[in-house]
This record gives sequence, structure tokens and C-alpha cells, in this order.
Amino acid sequence: MLEAKELPPELSYLTVTDQPLPNDPPRSVWSNLRRLHAVLSVFSRTVGPIHVSSGYRSAEVNEAVGGVPTSLHRKGRAADIQLATPEKTREFFLALASDPSVLPGTISELILYVYGDTPSHLHVGIPEQGLAPQPVIRTKRFTA
Ligand SMILES: [Zn+2]
Repeated sequence: MLEAKELPPELSYLTVTDQPLPNDPPRSVWSNLRRLHAVLSVFSRTVGPIHVSSGYRSAEVNEAVGGVPTSLHRKGRAADIQLATPEKTREFFLALASDPSVLPGTISELILYVYGDTPSHLHVGIPEQGLAPQPVIRTKRFTA
């Protein structure tokens, strides 16, 4: 089977960063990015366009944005997403969090980041290939 030499273009939005630092995912995380893309594609069929502000992070980018070293972003297994409005982002979080059928095997982390009263983004993490852990679901609040 022929292997792509460069990251498939349909996955490139998962490497977006506002940091002026290298952020090329190693081939070892491409399959994770494909699974993450599949989950986000299913989401967007339900809720419309999804903006990804952070997906894969190189060690440099992760450090620059204050991510923990064990972040799923480092493994290509997490995306920070926003819907059309902060309220829609919150509603989507609540809908996912209350639907047990969608989570196991699909999502391992679902964290709504809220600044003041305004949702900023939803962190969506996927499990390791083949695992279906109990997902971590929570809201992380910051004072504005
Ligand atoms: Zn995140």
C-alpha cells in the first residue's frame, strides 16, 4: 500500500496554531488525527460548521500555550472547537454530556472552558485506538 508522504490535506486544519512555531505532526499521530477528524465530521453534520482553534500540538507549541505535557493534543487526540456562538458551544457540550450513547469509545475528554460566563471553547479528546474509557466530562471556569 502506498503511504502518503505528507499529511493528507483534509487533516491540515488539525495542525492550526497561532504560535510562530513548528507544528508538523509526526506520522505516528496521523491515524489519531484521522480518527479525530472522523469524530468532528460526525459532529459538524449535526451542528454545522465547527471552528478548530487547536488540534495537534508539537512540544514547542504545547509549551507556548501552557498545555500540560500529557495533553492529548500532543498525540493528535484532542481538538479545541467552537461553534457559531458561545451559547451554541455550551448547548452542544450539554447535549453531548447528557447523551451516554455518543461518548464511550468515541470521546474520552469533554471539557467546556468558560471565561466569566462565556464559553470559550470545547476541548474534545478521543480515546486511544481500541479503548473505551469512562470519559472525563467537566467545565473548567476562569474568572474574566
Ligand atoms: Zn484542548
